[in-house]
Amino acid sequence: MSAADCVFCRILAGQIPALRVFENEDILAFLDIGPLAEGHCLVIPKKHHVLLSDMSDDEVAAVTRHLPRLTRAVMKGVGVEGCNVLVNVGRVASQEVPHVHWHVIPRRPADGLGYRWDASKYPPGRGEQVAAQVAAALKP
Ligand code: AMP
Repeated sequence: MSAADCVFCRILAGQIPALRVFENEDILAFLDIGPLAEGHCLVIPKKHHVLLSDMSDDEVAAVTRHLPRLTRAVMKGVGVEGCNVLVNVGRVASQEVPHVHWHVIPRRPADGLGYRWDASKYPPGRGEQVAAQVAAALKP
C-alpha cells in the first residue's frame, strides 16, 4: 500500500482532517473518528508500517516512549482513572486500518465496553511446548 492509499498517511499529510492532540517528528496522536469513549485517541508513527511486527525496536520505542504521558493526558483530559492501550496486529486481530496504531481508550466503571476474553487452560505439558516454540522463534 502506498501513502496515497493509506488513510492515516493522508491524515499525516493534512489531506484528511483529524482532531490532533500531539505531534512531533516521529508520531501523531489524534482523536479516533469512531470513539469507543470520549477521548479515545490513536497514536501513529509517521513512517508507514502496516503491522507493529514490521517495525524496528527503535521505531516502536520512538512511539511507546510517549505513551505514559499521552495516557496521563487522556485520562486527565476526560476525567477517568483508567484506559486500555492496545494494538491490533493484523486483520485476524481486527486491525482495519493498515497503518500501525495504538489505541488509548478511556474507561469508566460500568461503561459497558467490556473486555473479558474467554480464557482457556493449557493441558498438561502443552504450555511448556508452546513456550519453547516461542522462545526458539526469538533466536536469530
Ligand atoms: P483498528 O480496528 O485497530 O484498525 O482501528 C482502526 C480505527 O481507526 C477505528 O477505531 C476507526 O474508528 C479509526 N479511524 C478510521 N479512519 C479514521 C479517521 N479518518 N480519523 C480518525 N480515526 C479513524
